[in-house]
Amino acid sequence: LADSDFIIVGAGLYGSTIAERLANEYNLSVMILEQRNHLGGNCYSTIHQETGIEYHQYGTHIFHTSNETVWNYIHRFTHFNGYYHQVLTTYKDQVYQMPINLETINSFYGVNLKPFEVRQFLAREIAKENILRPQNLEEKAISLLGRPLYEAFIKGYTIKQWQKHPRDLPTSILTRIPFRTNYNENYFHDKWQGIPEDGYAAIFQKMLSHPKIQVHLNTDFFSIRDQLPQNTVIVYSGPIDRFFEYKFGKLEWRTLRFEKEVISVEDYQGISVMNYAEETVPYTRIHEPRHLHPERNYPQNETLIIREYSDMDDGSAPYYPINDEKNRKLLLKYHDEAKKHPNVFFSGRLGEYKYLDMHQTIENALDLFETRLCPLFRQ
Ligand code: FAD
Repeated sequence: LADSDFIIVGAGLYGSTIAERLANEYNLSVMILEQRNHLGGNCYSTIHQETGIEYHQYGTHIFHTSNETVWNYIHRFTHFNGYYHQVLTTYKDQVYQMPINLETINSFYGVNLKPFEVRQFLAREIAKENILRPQNLEEKAISLLGRPLYEAFIKGYTIKQWQKHPRDLPTSILTRIPFRTNYNENYFHDKWQGIPEDGYAAIFQKMLSHPKIQVHLNTDFFSIRDQLPQNTVIVYSGPIDRFFEYKFGKLEWRTLRFEKEVISVEDYQGISVMNYAEETVPYTRIHEPRHLHPERNYPQNETLIIREYSDMDDGSAPYYPINDEKNRKLLLKYHDEAKKHPNVFFSGRLGEYKYLDMHQTIENALDLFETRLCPLFRQ
């Protein structure tokens, strides 16, 4: 392994942003170690061989942001199509808009409320149970929406996501339920959104094309740690607890499992993501990735669908951190350990044990680069 100015663990969006900045801005040499066989981390997209449809291997990823610096930065590597994200949910064979909006409420109750009438209408439902101090997620949801909407849209979906009844989940999981008193069906509130025209994988090829960036795929940092030069600055975007050999215990994650199927119709569900709210339907969502690229000429006789199942992680595929007291306490212990390694920057969604959208990941990486890394070699 050649000497480098910096070592980066993980070729996800975080590690790639840092590597790109160091090489392009300061001509520094960077070695990236990536345990998977591809760049891009969880943002990776690839072409489905049978249908030619591009899909996101780790779940549908929509780029959205209101941060102009981030939007300008990502535009150096891609253009975006005009896709905007909308989500629907199926409950008892009826399709409703998500997050809950005026259309959802009016269709569900068979009424025709005006925006200014919604809160009062829901207040009547909420008052029926009069829960003043919710003790668990079920009570919290009922205190915000009333029982009927909770039973239809929150209960079954939550059980599938967490494999636990909302009665047995803390209120902290759900601080608010987004609902809209108008017909706005745009999932995100951000100023900009879209899907990279050439897919996510192409972004990473461009980001890491500088000759001073060496990428070693299929390389687990821990299997070559002893061969690496001592005291080189490391930006570590792997799991923080693994770095310390889980000495205080494992941080818990939820994971997802995906099942692909090719269906012999042009359009299966008319939208890129359809949620399934009922507990009796075993999957939480169906993705149909052709809808992410309406500008492309995809096959007219078949489509790809991907069913998504939610599960607890066994350590192999961490997706969503579990933000409860037990894990927060454990994380603090690892933070204390991290302070003993001033040359290692624990970062990204795995290193910080935090759910980060792509725009937040870039924002955090640019911030680390400017405020912590640049001062190291500007002296
Ligand atoms: P990652 O992408 O996980 O990259 C970390 C990399 O480090 C991985 O490639 C991993 O293999 C590697 N690594 C770990 N340990 C080691 C080791 N020991 N040695 C070598 N390599 C190692 N964001 C949005 O903005 N919009 C969305 O629509 C959206 N949808 C999402 C859907 C799902 C299901 C999930 C889970 C996330 C979604 N996100 C979305 C968030 C997005 O995936 C993250 O913002 C992004 O992946 C974070 O990048 P990262 O580099 O921190 O982590």
